[in-house]
Amino acid sequence: MVDYGIKFWSNGDFIIDEGVVKVNYMSKPALIDIVREVREKGYMGPLLIRFPHLINNQITKLYNAFESSIMEYQYKGEFKAVFPLKVNQMPNFVLPLVELSRTKCYGLEAGSKAELIVAMSYTDKGSPITVNGFKDKEMISLGFIAANMGHDITLTIEGINELKIIIDIANDMPEPYPNIGLRIRLHSIGKGIWAKSGGITSKFGLTSTELLQAMKMLESSKLLHKFTMIHFHIGSQISDISPLKKAIREVGNIYAELRKMGAINLTSVNIGGGLAVEYAQYESMNCKNYTLEEFSGNVVFSLKEIVKNKNELEPDIFIESGRFISASHAVLITPVLELFSQEYDEGALNLKDDNNPPLVEELNDLYHSITDKNAIEYLHDSLDHMESLLTLFDLGYIDLRDRSNTEVLVHLIIKKVIQLLKYKNHNEIIKIQKSVQERYLLNCSFFQSLPDYWGLEQNFPVMPLDRLDRRPTRAASLWDITCDSDGEISFNPQMPLYLHDIDISREEYFLGFFLVGAYQEVLGMRHNLFTHPTEFSVIFDDDLNKGYEIDYLLEAQTIVDVLDDLDYDTKEIERILKQHIEDSDLDSDTKKVVLGKLYVMLSENGYLRTIAK
Ligand SMILES: *Cc1c(COP(=O)(O)O)cnc(C)c1O
Repeated sequence: MVDYGIKFWSNGDFIIDEGVVKVNYMSKPALIDIVREVREKGYMGPLLIRFPHLINNQITKLYNAFESSIMEYQYKGEFKAVFPLKVNQMPNFVLPLVELSRTKCYGLEAGSKAELIVAMSYTDKGSPITVNGFKDKEMISLGFIAANMGHDITLTIEGINELKIIIDIANDMPEPYPNIGLRIRLHSIGKGIWAKSGGITSKFGLTSTELLQAMKMLESSKLLHKFTMIHFHIGSQISDISPLKKAIREVGNIYAELRKMGAINLTSVNIGGGLAVEYAQYESMNCKNYTLEEFSGNVVFSLKEIVKNKNELEPDIFIESGRFISASHAVLITPVLELFSQEYDEGALNLKDDNNPPLVEELNDLYHSITDKNAIEYLHDSLDHMESLLTLFDLGYIDLRDRSNTEVLVHLIIKKVIQLLKYKNHNEIIKIQKSVQERYLLNCSFFQSLPDYWGLEQNFPVMPLDRLDRRPTRAASLWDITCDSDGEISFNPQMPLYLHDIDISREEYFLGFFLVGAYQEVLGMRHNLFTHPTEFSVIFDDDLNKGYEIDYLLEAQTIVDVLDDLDYDTKEIERILKQHIEDSDLDSDTKKVVLGKLYVMLSENGYLRTIAK
C-alpha cells in the first residue's frame, strides 16, 4: 500500500501528487506546506485543519442526490435537511456551515438546551430547526420561545410525558406554537457498532400504543394541527441499506395510518441520520455498502411505493445526516516525535567466546543456515527457543548478556525471514511483521482527538503527508503522548500500516488522520490534561497569493487555562510555585531566570514542542 487507500476514503477530496498529499481544490495546496506555514508561526503541537469548502461539498452532494432522486421518481414531496449539532458543535464548523448553506434552507437539529440556543441564534428564519432527545419543561418552553421569535421549529416527542408538558405550556404561551413531531419506536434495527438508536428496546420513541394515545391527547387539546412530522433514527454509520428500507416501510405505513386517523397536517417523514462515511483504507475492510445515490433513490422510491399503496400524500423527506456532512472537513495533523525501534544489526550481537547457552548457539546456527525453504519452520523454532531462554533467565540459569543475545538473534532471524519471503508469502510476512513493528511516537492524544478509536475501535484513515514517492518499509504502530497504554494504535495484520524510515533528529515527518470532523471534537476528553489541538481553517480564494489563506486560528488552551477549567485556583498555583523558587537555594539572578521560564511554560499549551534539529 503506497497510496494509503486514498481512493477508497477520500472521495477525491485529497489526492497524492508529486509525492505529497494535496487538497484537491482550486490552487491544490500540499498539506505539508500548509502545516509548515502554521508551524513557522510557532504552533508546534498537533494541528486540526478545517476545510470549509468540504462542508459545502457534502451539503451540495446530499441535496443534489435527493433532488435528482425526487426528479427521477417524480416524487411530489420536498427534500429538507438539518445538521444535528451533537455531531460537531464547534463554532468554526457551525458558522461556516450556516453561511455556506444559506441558499438551501438547511437548518440545525438540537438535542440539548445549549444546542437549542445555538440553533435559535444561527439558523436563518425559514430554515428548519428540529429538537430531539429528552426534554424538560424549560427546554420545551425554549422551543415555544423559538416559535414566538418566528423560527420554523419542530419539537420531536420522545415520550408521552413530553407531550403532556407541551400541552400544558401551550395553555400559557402565546401563539405561534412550535410544530410537534413524534418519534417512532421501530421494530427494525440498524446494523453496526452504533446501532443502539433503533429497535424495540431503543432508548427513544413511542410504541404504536403510545402513538394512538398521543393522537387522542393532541386531538382533545386542539393541537392536532401542529402535529407535522414523524421521526426515526436507526443509528449512525449504517453499513447496509436494507435495514433503512425496512424502517422506511414501517414508518411509511405508520405515516399513512396516522393521516387516515385525522393527522391532516402530518406532511413530513424525518429519516434521522445514519448515512455512512467510508473510513476504510483497504477495500476488504469497507464499512459502507452503498452509494449516496442508492441511498437517496431507495428512500424516495420506498416512501413513494408505500404511500401509493395507501393512497396518501407523498410526504416531505427530512434528513438529519451529521457524520456524512462533517467528517471530511477536518484533518488532524500529528508531528512524529520519535521512532522507537528494536532495530538490531549483527553488531549488537555479543556472543561469548565459549560457553554460550546451547539454545543461544542453536539460535545462532538457525540464523546462519536459514533459507527461503526452511524460513517459516526456523522462525517458529527460534520463537520457541526464545521462550525457553527467557524462562531460563527468570530461573537464574543464564545471564543478561545471554538474554540480550537471544533478543538480537531472534530479531535478526525475523528480519531475514521477511527478506527471504518478500516475494513469496505476503500474508505470512504481514503476520511476522507484527513482532518487529516500529513504534512512532505522535505529538497528540488519541483520547482527545480520536476518542472513537479508543471507545469504539473505529479506525480513521492515516497517512504521511509527504515522501509518498518512496516506498514505506516500516511496519508501524502509533503511540500518543499520554501515559496510558490504551493510547496506542497497534500494527494490525488485517490492515497493515507501513511508514517511512526516517531520522527524526534531522527531518520532520507528519501523519495526517483524515475524516475526523464528526463526533471527535466535543467527545474528546482531556486525559492527562491534553486539550483540543490548535485549529485553523483554510479558506480558498483564487485572488489570494497562494490561492488560499489561513484563518480562524485558535491556539490550544494554555496550561493555566486548563487548570482554571478544572476549577483550580491558578493564582494560588502561581503564588505557590513562585514561593518555592523564592525559598530555594538559587542565587537571586538565577531565581529570576527560572521564574521567567516557568511563566512562559504556564502560558503555553501542554503539547510537546520538540522540533527537528
Ligand atoms: C445522532 C443523530 C443524528 C446524526 O446521525 P449521523 O449518523 O451522524 O448522521 C441524527 N438524528 C438523531 C436523532 C441523532 O440522534
